[in-house]
Amino acid sequence: MSRPVLPAELAQTVSPATLLVRGGAARSPYDETCEALFMTSGYVYGDAAAAEAAFAQDGVRYVYSRYRNPTVAMFEERLRLIEGAEACRATASGMAAVFAALLCRLRAGQRVVSSRALFGSCHYILAELLPRWGIETVLVDGRDLAAWEAALAGGAAAAFCESPSNPAMEIVDLAAVARLVHRAGGLLIVDNVFASPLLQKPLSLGADVVVYSATKHIDGQGRCLGGAILASEKFIKDDLGLFYRHTGPSLSPFNAWLLLKGLETLELRVERQSQSAAAIAAFLEAHPKVARVLYPGLPSHPQYALARRQMRAGGSLVAFDIAGDKSACFRFLNALRLIDISNNLGDSKSLVTHPATTTHSRLKPEARAELGIGDQLVRLSVGLEAACDLIADLDRALAVV
Ligand SMILES: *Cc1c(COP(=O)(O)O)cnc(C)c1O
Repeated sequence: MSRPVLPAELAQTVSPATLLVRGGAARSPYDETCEALFMTSGYVYGDAAAAEAAFAQDGVRYVYSRYRNPTVAMFEERLRLIEGAEACRATASGMAAVFAALLCRLRAGQRVVSSRALFGSCHYILAELLPRWGIETVLVDGRDLAAWEAALAGGAAAAFCESPSNPAMEIVDLAAVARLVHRAGGLLIVDNVFASPLLQKPLSLGADVVVYSATKHIDGQGRCLGGAILASEKFIKDDLGLFYRHTGPSLSPFNAWLLLKGLETLELRVERQSQSAAAIAAFLEAHPKVARVLYPGLPSHPQYALARRQMRAGGSLVAFDIAGDKSACFRFLNALRLIDISNNLGDSKSLVTHPATTTHSRLKPEARAELGIGDQLVRLSVGLEAACDLIADLDRALAVV
């Protein structure tokens, strides 16, 4: 496993499309075209002294797949190159990445400031688990820089946010929040799932750690769970290193192999999905049965200028309010014949979600109202079907509202 498919000096200069196909791959002595799947938990040593040396000098060779595995390492390196990060560790799911990125560093008595508009499980970790362990969590309106500044004034070990947020597409000014967090002495951790590694680069905007659910666009074909943490070499080694090794959030080699294949087509999929999503958002905005559309690529988005500054395109997710109540909304969802009802996102199949009764049903009604999640809100994850077919499906279903 020593021969890189992409020479190191080329990895510095080639385009993302090339990195996604060739980056991080290393050929075994069998000269395979496709990345090899090393489905092994352990490794053997030629003699006892080789085992002693492997344990004495960490990182010189593979010793156990909870620590490292050659197929997982290829996925980590490919994603690292695309993100432009110093280092990457893959995890078994997006939530394992979020949990490890926060907990590998935090200690009892510290504070964390986070935007309030969060994926449900991230909200659970920040609002329920951390306080249980003596870590104070302060939740703020992520769009409000004055709120970030006030919450960070007392110092903080870390800040956490999602941008765009799920499902109401709130945008956090990542560069400004990074400055405030650094002044408070903490690190900024960004959940970059909605934008994907191609449309937004939090590290270049000043964030310290980026986390992904690779389950979403990176696999993008509904096959497996996965996640990743990208940060400086120092964070990955000194903060995450032993925590990762001894708590075991490791990614399966099989899933790493699927995710490597997913990365090969990531740019094609995200570009196409983003283009279709922009066309669908424009269609919905002009439709009399739609009361409001939230899409970062539409000039009507309340934070359009900021979204344009920090994202390359609007992404593959569109949120919109049906002109009607919950039953009208359910009639619309049930009338769709192409788009499936599902809580997943980033898939090649277009999927639609009713956040108030599914992903965000555990929040109190006041909390949902504060996040703009009404009974009429729909979240659409745009897939790879022809945009004209998706628009026809939406138009047909809107007719029953
Ligand atoms: C899905 C998702 C996660 C969690 O990822 P899993 O792979 O399901 O564990 C975290 N954050 C966001 C924004 C997500 O959409």
